[in-house]
Amino acid sequence: MSNFVSGRHFLQTPGPTNLPDRVLRAMDRNAINHRGPEFGALGRELVAKLRTVFQTKMAIVGIFPASGTGAWESALTNALVPGDRILISRTGQFSHLWEQMATRLGVDVVSLETDWRRGADPVAIGQVLEQDREHKIKAVCAVHSETSTSCMTDIAAVRQAMNRAKHPALLMVDAISSLGCADYRHDEWDVDVTIAGSQKGLMVPPGLSFTAISDKALAVARAGGQRRSYWDWEPLVASNKTGFFPYTPAINLLFALNEALDMLAEEGLPTVFARHNRYAQATRLAAVAWGLELQCADPAAYAPGVTAIRTPDGHSADNLRNVILEKFNMSLGNGLGRVEDRVFRIGHMGDLGVLSFTGTLTGVEMGLRAAGIPHKEGGVQAAMNYLATANG
Ligand SMILES: *Cc1c(COP(=O)(O)O)cnc(C)c1O
Repeated sequence: MSNFVSGRHFLQTPGPTNLPDRVLRAMDRNAINHRGPEFGALGRELVAKLRTVFQTKMAIVGIFPASGTGAWESALTNALVPGDRILISRTGQFSHLWEQMATRLGVDVVSLETDWRRGADPVAIGQVLEQDREHKIKAVCAVHSETSTSCMTDIAAVRQAMNRAKHPALLMVDAISSLGCADYRHDEWDVDVTIAGSQKGLMVPPGLSFTAISDKALAVARAGGQRRSYWDWEPLVASNKTGFFPYTPAINLLFALNEALDMLAEEGLPTVFARHNRYAQATRLAAVAWGLELQCADPAAYAPGVTAIRTPDGHSADNLRNVILEKFNMSLGNGLGRVEDRVFRIGHMGDLGVLSFTGTLTGVEMGLRAAGIPHKEGGVQAAMNYLATANG
């Protein structure tokens, strides 16, 4: 018996995602002097390209050497002081982690419950804001794509609800698993702080987090916020102009990022979003044909980059994933928090060709059979029938 497994591992988790060869090659080179002219040009170029994917003209853009969670901490520490109040909808594991971090930082959290099967409810958010006549709530926090449930929150509708309530709170959005997968509009939706990470739709190795910051949020940070140093937004203002960082940046990850952003521009963002929507639709057709239930119960909220699928009662989703890993050399996302072992998640975000994608579904269908999960045949066929003629 050999331990060698032939063929490329299928990394179909909703982050980290598969790294394109072009991205791998771009970072496989010597570092450069981060105080030299070549680096400054790179830094300025990256800010401009990131603004394109955030769909913002002028927002300050931060690039921190950290996972996405670092950009959250940066947002909370710059914009809030202990005792400040924020509003969060409990849409899934990632909203839960936002809430936990805010609580640790001494921020008072008002939360709205959901059943983890839909996005945040803009009407409920509006009602809470209308009742907050003294404007104690300083920020509304939302997760655009809840990666744990594969449900989207309609950020434009949240902003409208805030405007209708004439509430001055900041709007802070976690777009970690939607940037580069879904049409995300920082400016048009009047978002104050958007945060993102490198290892999902942006096709870059883990280790970078990003943030886009409105003038309003910057003014709030200048006037207050809590003690911070490394995460402070102020140095970003100069940094965006010069391209230089106040510390040693993750130079080779930035080479990777530059290449990935070029790839997104070459494919064209509308084409990228349409591709993600196609794969998401094909995945849902497969799940329905298998007779399995989607975790997301609201068709208006289906996520483009990930699909969480429930296993039938009494059947372990973790066991299914283990069987798929051992027999078919593929990694899928696990159920998180409240849905642990109840759902498995197919990541279809980032760099993914149609045949690798249908191969992914094939691995799932074989896994369902191998793991003894009750299901109907024909999921892959349903996906193929759709993809054969789907445009794009
Ligand atoms: C992955 C993810 C995170 C966590 O990001 P890290 O890079 O692991 O810190 C947060 N929010 C969402 C929506 C995510 O998908």
